[in-house]
Amino acid sequence: MRTYFGKLVYIVRVVEFQYRGLPHAHIVLKVLPELLFAFIDVTIMARIPNDPELADVRSKVLKYNMHSKDHLKKLRNRCNKKGKCAFGFPFDLATTTSLDSNGRVIYRRDTEDDRYVAS
Ligand SMILES: [Zn+2]
Repeated sequence: MRTYFGKLVYIVRVVEFQYRGLPHAHIVLKVLPELLFAFIDVTIMARIPNDPELADVRSKVLKYNMHSKDHLKKLRNRCNKKGKCAFGFPFDLATTTSLDSNGRVIYRRDTEDDRYVAS
């Protein structure tokens, strides 16, 4: 990883094991020189892969990484907070990855279905 991304300055990671779905990790790292967003777009995805070579990844994303589109239909859904999703779904479409004014990542999302991919 050090040579792929550049010089690693620091890394913070937490692996979560939840009741449903796959274990997953939250990783924050700083590398030098800073990465271009175009490089991040091909390394980290919040999209449903269309590449036939990634068919296995596609099926896992569709099975484990999708937020329900019906999330606001039931008042008792855990994400439904007064008619608004507590987790921010659906996310806005974005042609490239960027940062918002608070430094949070806005991932590239190309299609309507990508708006429901957990990241
Ligand atoms: Zn929701």
